[in-house]
Amino acid sequence: MTAPHSPTSFGHRHLLGIEGLAAGEITALLDLSESYVEHNRRRDKKGQVLRGRTLINVFFESSTRTRTSFELAGKRLGADVINISPEVSAVKKGETLLDTAMTLNAMHPDVLVVRHPDSGAVHLLAQKVTCAVINGGDGKHEHPTQALLDALTIRRRLGRLEGLMVAICGDILHSRVARSNIHLLNIMGARVRVVAPPTLLACDIERMGVEVFHDMRAGLQGCDIVMMLRLQTERMQGSFVPSIREYFHFFGLDHDKLASAKPHALIMHPGPMNRGVEIDSLVADDIFRSLIHEQVEMGVAVRMACLDLLTRDLTGNEPSEAV
Ligand code: ASP
Repeated sequence: MTAPHSPTSFGHRHLLGIEGLAAGEITALLDLSESYVEHNRRRDKKGQVLRGRTLINVFFESSTRTRTSFELAGKRLGADVINISPEVSAVKKGETLLDTAMTLNAMHPDVLVVRHPDSGAVHLLAQKVTCAVINGGDGKHEHPTQALLDALTIRRRLGRLEGLMVAICGDILHSRVARSNIHLLNIMGARVRVVAPPTLLACDIERMGVEVFHDMRAGLQGCDIVMMLRLQTERMQGSFVPSIREYFHFFGLDHDKLASAKPHALIMHPGPMNRGVEIDSLVADDIFRSLIHEQVEMGVAVRMACLDLLTRDLTGNEPSEAV
């Protein structure tokens, strides 16, 4: 099976965030991802682009979608893939993040995919290793592959990103997904609104180039895309909403609130979803409006494109086959 090719290399050693990427780089990643969507729909999904390469997934936080899709992405490109989690690693014995990183680096992986609860931890680690590093989500900072897969999902459905009105709703304050999406959508010329209670928004959020709303019906008016976020209680100290019931009443997406958006507005959620908290089941499972499963499918394709581009050499040449 031949691997899809894109004409350029990525030009960055790591993928640590969306902030700082150029529109052309994002477009190149999305274009390459398109070819992997087709690849993943074939019966024989085994490719060769990463044959002889080693990918290590190092997840210090729980994950279903991101970890599994990076594993599948690596395997479908022919790489050897290893998964490490803190419960079964020497982190449990007191080893620091950097010592763990240096230890793994000494085994000559080609790519480390790292998720960590602390914002900035993945950047720090990337400075200490010689292989490519992909940020699989660091604290409330960035989750670049989520924003890329969201962009691919939107672009495939609506044909473009430029000029769209996107509302990101819910726990913006603790969300790396929100931050990466705000960066990406702004870079690509979409308009972004955030809709949340004041307690779930950073007070200087406008500086990211978004319009702020505290009312769902007002915030959703005229939107093409409604992106819902989970209440990330694992990052909260104390209580940020009076009660789940009240939160759902004011900020949970149901068909009634959705009626304020454009008639064919589409619904997204990065998962994991908390039904009845930030989203009503009838909306989440609405096969005409909900893109939630498509987002998961796009996640594998986007991660294949990221692995492919980051393992090419920076001259744009294909890596030579290992002998
Ligand atoms: N899966 C996403 C993340 O890792 C969103 C979430 O956990 O709510 O940030």
